[in-house]
Amino acid sequence: METKIIKIDKKQINKSMIQEAGDILKRGGLVAFPTETVYGLGADALSEEAAAKIYAAKGRPSDNPLIVHITNMGDLEKVAEKIPAEAVKVAGKYWPGPLTMIFHKKDIVPYGTTGGLDTVAVRMPSHEIAREVIDAGGGFIAAPSANTSGRPSPTTAQHVKEDMDGRIEMIVDGGPVEIGVESTILDMTVTPPMILRPGAVTEEMLTELIGAVAVDHTLITADSTEAPKAPGMKYRHYAPNAELVIIEGPASKVTEEINRLARARQKEGYKVGIIGTEETVSGYTSGDVKSIGTREDESTIAGRLYAVLREFDDDGVNYIYSESFATGGIGSAIMNRLLKAAGHHVINIQ
Ligand code: AMP
Ligand code: MG
Repeated sequence: METKIIKIDKKQINKSMIQEAGDILKRGGLVAFPTETVYGLGADALSEEAAAKIYAAKGRPSDNPLIVHITNMGDLEKVAEKIPAEAVKVAGKYWPGPLTMIFHKKDIVPYGTTGGLDTVAVRMPSHEIAREVIDAGGGFIAAPSANTSGRPSPTTAQHVKEDMDGRIEMIVDGGPVEIGVESTILDMTVTPPMILRPGAVTEEMLTELIGAVAVDHTLITADSTEAPKAPGMKYRHYAPNAELVIIEGPASKVTEEINRLARARQKEGYKVGIIGTEETVSGYTSGDVKSIGTREDESTIAGRLYAVLREFDDDGVNYIYSESFATGGIGSAIMNRLLKAAGHHVINIQ
């Protein structure tokens, strides 16, 4: 199949192009489009056959459920049952936005979309192009990240093309995304609600709004022996081809240790990549050194994370050594993704 790539300016959305994308979705086809978090691979969430195509295109395990994207609260009631008052409160503040909530599902949502679960994950994105595509496609669009399963999520249309060219009908290129890591997932079927995946809507923000919020503790600890509660979080994920190792400890010692490790691997004939920050890159003496952003504004790090991992794939490096990041705010999402990309391989030098 030939993948059509269309460019849409989010400040001046071309309606006939949106219509074309919507028609493909309504026919049961696949369209990738930008959201504020990462690029999504869209299909009609209410059609089992359409959802099955997502699993095939991504090579995604069939027990890893999809998130249903909607654009208005009226549609939430069509797919979810027993919506608690707290969820309405959270939606009031953080929807549309980078937050997914889990509810008991209604029969209209096929098990092919929920990975066989009786619950459904729902998100209302804020990205203008995403919203237009969802509405044009019938209002209920399953849209996991538009990458091959296991690879870093796509934050540009070029990333989507690398993974999906020839596998899907259309890619809507709306430029680079804003946030760069996937939505926060909040399970509203348990008391208190539980964060199953950290994202840009943080634990701190949710606690301030609704009080106690639990966090699936398997998410940001180095220990990975216990299975996480979101089925998809158990898989190796977001991972570059190289072996990625995170070095944790006081900043100066981390730089020293990474320099030592890099030199040793280079001596063995390997290509080495280093993930540093604006504050530290000048301290690295060898290897392919990339700044992932500034520690003064961690949203810059979230925005660059997946692109940097993909760049190292393009460069063909064998080992990547990365600094570690603080785990408050968006830092929890960054460390969660980095730990998964590293298969929880951390060296602590405190
Ligand atoms: P992605 O669409 O690639 O961002 O991945 C969606 C994530 O949401 C995966 O980690 C899924 O396991 C999780 N998820 C989707 N639906 C549910 C659900 N009903 N219960 C728990 N986790 C879910
Ligand atoms: Mg994904």
